[in-house]
Amino acid sequence: MPKSKGLIFIIPVEKNHKYIAKIETLSSDGNGIARICGYTLFVPQAVPGDEVELLVVKTNKNYGYAKVMAVITPSPMRKEPPCPHFAKCGGCQLMTIDYNAQLEFKKNIVRDALLRLGKIDLTPDIIGMEYPFRYRNKMVFPFAPDGSWGFYRQRSHDVIPLTDCFLGDSLTTEIMNTISIHIKKYNIPVYDEIAHKGVMRRAFLRTTESEVMVVISVNGDNIPKADELIKSITAVSPKISSIILNINKKRTNLVLGDKNVTLWGKDVLSATLCGLSYEISPHSFFQVNPIQTEKLYGKAIELADTTENDTVLDIYCGIGTISLTAAKTAKSVIGVEIVPEAIENAKDNAKRNSIENAEFYCSAAEDIVPQLIADNISPDIVILDPPRKGSDEKTLSAIVSAKPKRIVYVSCNPATLARDAQFLTENSYTAKSVTAVDMFPHTVHVESVMLFVKD
Ligand code: SAH
Repeated sequence: MPKSKGLIFIIPVEKNHKYIAKIETLSSDGNGIARICGYTLFVPQAVPGDEVELLVVKTNKNYGYAKVMAVITPSPMRKEPPCPHFAKCGGCQLMTIDYNAQLEFKKNIVRDALLRLGKIDLTPDIIGMEYPFRYRNKMVFPFAPDGSWGFYRQRSHDVIPLTDCFLGDSLTTEIMNTISIHIKKYNIPVYDEIAHKGVMRRAFLRTTESEVMVVISVNGDNIPKADELIKSITAVSPKISSIILNINKKRTNLVLGDKNVTLWGKDVLSATLCGLSYEISPHSFFQVNPIQTEKLYGKAIELADTTENDTVLDIYCGIGTISLTAAKTAKSVIGVEIVPEAIENAKDNAKRNSIENAEFYCSAAEDIVPQLIADNISPDIVILDPPRKGSDEKTLSAIVSAKPKRIVYVSCNPATLARDAQFLTENSYTAKSVTAVDMFPHTVHVESVMLFVKD
């Protein structure tokens, strides 16, 4: 008798067929999850508790994808999205979900990641926003071939034209419309990334309470009729404080090229945060939600609990925002960051705020942190705020070898936070608390700040 070659697996749904199903929960990337005869379907823009008619659009062996054709019985958590572009845009995965339910979802993402990937059982708090719209101080918009502006459709580089974005400052809409009119009026070719031809790539706008920086990225050395464009943009608002040409002639997906030329106004943008004033270059990282950033830094500083005898090491310090806030109560602060412009900004920002107990080093954390520790720098408190990919073993090993009494880890990615948290808990630190901060309402992203203390 031939041996069985294993079970034959039958997928219980068929592509292009419609089904009625209940949405049970959300995946970590914000898709609704429905199960039909045990088979998992991911359903974008569906809300847990909805009963929906869905169309299966893709089937893999273990799971598939479907789209909502009709909501038969809406979930009590379902909200009408205020944004007219919601259905097509994909930037705000959670806008159909009541804001308090979004906060619960984010708490669970952090809790699950820590438990599953870090073997750490902690229940996070979450700090939400009172008005969870128009919070972003940075917007980046590509141009469509006809000169209109918008966002990329999810998982594609097709531009969906927008008339507004509910996450950004309303001034950004007016500025984008002005640039778009200029492109159309003078028939300026929009950059085509497949052919690597055309000029206008994207606009990058940063706003603060009193200023707006407009960076226009082009595949070339100038913007046609730049003087006229400057006139039109500066007429939009007296808050416009700089217009910068960013030269990006490479075949790359990076938002900005290396070279900036100030066409009008200042080279940097001024901002205040936690009572300190900052200047920010286009290439420097700056948190996108200033209201929540104050809460995040406030929590990080509270957890760091520095005294005037403490040396603080702030790794991945950007323009020195956390370092300078910590310097107010610490003996000294050392900030470490890889982007040279950010370190220049950090040094200037220390001077601007008359802070004399902070020094900054421009280098990769994985190189400089082991070196500083080997040179007998002995931090009492370490704060780290790495990019999405998290920290690395060289940096983390050097941190634990210096035996700081507290480590405060700020993270924008629960998965890498959990991985690094496990390393710390396996190397004589105890995870004491984690607070999620909703820096990005209506999207699946969540920031967290976690405290570790030396065993
Ligand atoms: N703490 C800052 C910046 C956090 S974002 C703030 O809150 O504003 C993460 C920062 O890490 C960015 O500024 C990025 O340029 C920097 N970075 C990325 N990789 C790095 C590395 N390998 N070493 C040091 N800094 C790095």
